[in-house]
Amino acid sequence: MTNGVICLVMTLEKATNIIVRSLTPNRPHHVQWMITRKCNYRCKGCNVWREQDTRELSTEEIKRGLDILRELGVIEVVLSGGNPLLRDDIGEIIEYTSRFFVTTIYDNGSMAVKKIDDLRNADFVAISIDSLNPQKNDYVRGVKGAWRNSMKAVEKLHEEGISVSVSPTISQFNLHEMLDFTNYFVNKGIPIWYCLYSYDLSNHRGQLFKIGKKNDEFTIVDKEAMVNLCDSLIEMGKKNSDILMTTKILETIKDLYLTGRRTWRCRALQNFFVIDHLGRVAGCHLHNPIASIFDLPRVWNNSKLNALRKTYNKCTQCTYLCYMFYSIHGGVIGNLQIAQERWRNAKLLLKKSSQHPKRLKKPNNIAF
Ligand code: SF4
Ligand code: SF4
Repeated sequence: MTNGVICLVMTLEKATNIIVRSLTPNRPHHVQWMITRKCNYRCKGCNVWREQDTRELSTEEIKRGLDILRELGVIEVVLSGGNPLLRDDIGEIIEYTSRFFVTTIYDNGSMAVKKIDDLRNADFVAISIDSLNPQKNDYVRGVKGAWRNSMKAVEKLHEEGISVSVSPTISQFNLHEMLDFTNYFVNKGIPIWYCLYSYDLSNHRGQLFKIGKKNDEFTIVDKEAMVNLCDSLIEMGKKNSDILMTTKILETIKDLYLTGRRTWRCRALQNFFVIDHLGRVAGCHLHNPIASIFDLPRVWNNSKLNALRKTYNKCTQCTYLCYMFYSIHGGVIGNLQIAQERWRNAKLLLKKSSQHPKRLKKPNNIAF
């Protein structure tokens, strides 16, 4: 997600190890591991809470899986769910993951303050928040007080020196405020990692699991506004290291909304793959599992997976931004592009590092 920036704050040994792995070709560099299917929120655009499952892998099984990912050459692991912070062993999981990988963990804002000590080893903590307006945010999240929780979490983590970012999902519902939203957080020195509202276009029998739920309120229909937002973010990103999107990604999204063309090829099972709460691996969540994480080294190079890679290359069944990002940036060239862009931003970051971290201030007329 933010490899270049994170390397500034991780140990030299880990950074060196990650750089070597990120420059090794034909490796899956990025993994999203949904380590739990439990969630305490009720987001309108999401299916996860409707299909919860109390089963999950044990701590030791997850560690064993992480050892396998390291052998496969993975450099970045995103821990998500459900809400991964609902697991009692999350501190141990983060500590182990962060020894070897660039480690990002997601929270919907409800748990980060309660589990703050568990988060200190993470390279990045992403807090979901969709609007500067509390009522709008809570409407999307389906839980009263969600906005307040998220703002408190961002403020507290930032104060404690934990690398926190905010992660809004851009949809028709918040599209027109996204520039103000971005300005508000980057002015406080809080990085932003965007998601793009999307839903599962197809419904394969046996698909790994469902995430996005179709909701007309969120589907982006104002394409011109989306294009303008991309243009503004590209310009802002030239001067601000806190917009965690590369110019290439923003241009790709812009092109998609301007012309309807997909200018990228999906690299599921090549640059990235996903693992669910039971340890089942798939190229992405919309496709069937191909193996258990424990069997993955045995099948990784077999003909069945090679055929699937070719099929996924041609697939156009989703526009989930994380899959798009790692299709474009997950390989060696992509990692170099991120590094190049991040080096420019790293110089900005180094300049900023001499300043004392600012406390989050309340936006006008909004109370924490
Ligand atoms: S979007 Fe995240 S926080 Fe919201 S219901 Fe889905 S998994 Fe839970
Ligand atoms: S485009 Fe890629 S990530 Fe999306 S459904 Fe197809 S294979 Fe999965």
